[in-house]
Amino acid sequence: MQGGKNRIRLYRTEAIVLRHRDYGEADRILTIYTPELGKLEVIGKGVRKPTSRKAGHLEPFTRVSLLLAESRSWDIVTQAEAIETFPNLRQSLDSIAAASYMVELVDRFAQEGDRNPGVYELLEESLRALDAGDDIPLLLRFFEIDLVGLEGYRPELRKCVACGKELKPVDSFFSVEMGGALCPDCGKSIPSIPMPLSVFKVMRFLQSRPYSEVRQLQVSKRTLERVEQIMFRYLVHYLEKKPRSAGFIRRLRKMKGE
Ligand SMILES: [Zn+2]
Repeated sequence: MQGGKNRIRLYRTEAIVLRHRDYGEADRILTIYTPELGKLEVIGKGVRKPTSRKAGHLEPFTRVSLLLAESRSWDIVTQAEAIETFPNLRQSLDSIAAASYMVELVDRFAQEGDRNPGVYELLEESLRALDAGDDIPLLLRFFEIDLVGLEGYRPELRKCVACGKELKPVDSFFSVEMGGALCPDCGKSIPSIPMPLSVFKVMRFLQSRPYSEVRQLQVSKRTLERVEQIMFRYLVHYLEKKPRSAGFIRRLRKMKGE
């Protein structure tokens, strides 16, 4: 560094590590999600060396405080200090799978550099809930419906997406293509998924309440499975418009046996 001219600009950010991949001899490219800068790719130099002190702080699902140096290619991790490692969630395959699914959804929906602090909070809160051993299917449905809303694809559950009438608490329908619920009249003539009242109510609850209330909800397994089916088709529909999501969708479909 000579004088002030070529000074390297450093900046600090909190982040959640979504994933990483090996690069070169000993480096790792990390995909991280930050509250203020959205999704970023940064490089951890030498972190695969056995002597690296940073590596343990840069594992997926870790909430970490980073000091980054701007660079022409990937910004460089110069310091990494884990804030929360969520050790319990790493003890069970079910919660690891759920965490992997959540970070992958965040990764697929986010455009690099799009600021979306709500998504960060949702991911942070959900990893914490997994770590606390909360009910996984209920948490995942909450996560899905909140995430699509935060990313600009909020399913309409108040008014019929065809005729615009206020929806009544009755058995209704759901159109993935039209982006929300249909009243019983419109549902009869438009291709859609039947949405019994119990399913409709749960979806509205998940969409409008904070997780602190959602986690206390008692829902039958069957109802939650029907919510899952609707959200699965909804996610596939909106992710298919995104070019890099094909592989993820294939894995999703395989998981569902489609
Ligand atoms: Zn209608």
